[in-house]
Amino acid sequence: MVSYLKERGISNQDVLKAFENVPRHLFLDATLESHAYEDKAFPIGAEQTISHPYTVAFQTELLQVASGMKILEIGTGSGFQTAILMALGAEVYTIERQLELYRKCDRHFSVYPPGPKKLIYGDGYKGYSKEAPYDRIIVTAGAPEIPKDLLKQLRVGGLLVIPVGEEQQKMVVLERKGAKEFHQTVYGDFQFVPLLKETAGVKK
Ligand code: SAH
Repeated sequence: MVSYLKERGISNQDVLKAFENVPRHLFLDATLESHAYEDKAFPIGAEQTISHPYTVAFQTELLQVASGMKILEIGTGSGFQTAILMALGAEVYTIERQLELYRKCDRHFSVYPPGPKKLIYGDGYKGYSKEAPYDRIIVTAGAPEIPKDLLKQLRVGGLLVIPVGEEQQKMVVLERKGAKEFHQTVYGDFQFVPLLKETAGVKK
């Protein structure tokens, strides 16, 4: 998988090493394990998907992670992106709105520690103000607009990486330059499951 990511243009050595060290098959249902190293999204339950490895690598590269950084992730899903950020030495706070996936992920990290600094069941639209500010914020679901709360919770000098759009998304990087000043860079097209408001419990 690492040589494939290199071919696609991922060049950050730390990101490539993190992919070598985090076994993606552990984040998929046993029936899909043999496909874990293909560049595909797979169902993880609650009608959600684990992101394509290339997408995870692309977002992670844009995030410019250094060891010890405090990172907020919106959309824990399978926990694979979370584990990549942890492999880079980050302190990760991650939020999932689907109770089923939150529970699954909690179990996963109790079997395969270490887990993130905090796994949160909640609405990532609002961020997690208790631990703000963050050096980095990453959103792994397609956002119809950039949530204002996330901008507030970003440290000055910090980066927010977020796919913005409804059906298709552009990958947007926002750098916070000052209290009210942001610099935006826009990258190519991606397709994510939507960022939704409020939490969702388990269907009865
Ligand atoms: N990083 C994950 C991506 C999973 S897909 C992985 O690679 O496995 C995106 C996830 O975002 C889904 O699990 C979805 O339930 C979650 N999500 C969508 N809107 C959210 C919100 N407002 N707050 C928290 N999580 C959200």
